[in-house]
Amino acid sequence: MKYNRILLKLSGESLAAGNGGGIDPDRLRSYALQIRQAVESGVQVGIVVGGGNIFRGVAGAAKGFDRVTGDQMGMLATVINSLALRSALEEAGQPARVLTAIGMFPIGEPYGSRRAIETLEEGRVAIMSCGTGSPYFTTDTGSALRAVEIQADAMLKGTRVDGIYTADPEKDPSARKFDRISYAEVMERGLKVMDLTATALCKENGMPIYVFDMDTPGNLARVLAGEPIGTEVF
Ligand code: UDP
Repeated sequence: MKYNRILLKLSGESLAAGNGGGIDPDRLRSYALQIRQAVESGVQVGIVVGGGNIFRGVAGAAKGFDRVTGDQMGMLATVINSLALRSALEEAGQPARVLTAIGMFPIGEPYGSRRAIETLEEGRVAIMSCGTGSPYFTTDTGSALRAVEIQADAMLKGTRVDGIYTADPEKDPSARKFDRISYAEVMERGLKVMDLTATALCKENGMPIYVFDMDTPGNLARVLAGEPIGTEVF
């Protein structure tokens, strides 16, 4: 295996599987099976899930909520997704634990990096919810932070696109895919891989990012085996 310990970032949007919102049970099952397979192959898997399929703070602000309240609603959305993912993992026979950056026992246990690492070492998946636990951040930044904290070998960003392109491949047919690209080039080109805070945190801590299409079953295993199917940011 190319990696021993990973932090996998899944966006809330991807759980909706193109239904515009909510949680798609088939998509959840497909993710759970891929993740179980990864753990069975000996890889420790930490996960950060987004909440965009349920609520985003910025959208809330536009509807009249103050930003901090909107962001708190967004963080709660990540907990809902995390519980759904834990349930799907357990259904698939893979033990998992939800750790929350904002105290809400008994829904989840309080997050701490040592607790997360212990969970991984026990062969369980650690689902770290609430992003960073603070407003004005995103779950991309939350996953960059958790990846660094749990000393992951890489942060894997599972999306519906198979890597990073020079332009949006769904809009521009001449867009070219990168196999590898530096953090600096991602920032200079203004590529929307992740927000700047998340990219900067990975850059400062030498945390490689691997962007790949997780919606195709079997792709997580391919990435873990070192198949170059996505884009590496180094
Ligand atoms: N959020 C936050 N702090 C964090 C992470 C998330 O306040 O550290 C809030 C923010 O409002 C965000 C929402 O939670 O819009 C959902 O997260 P995100 O938009 O990153 O989800 P994704 O786009 O990955 O589904």
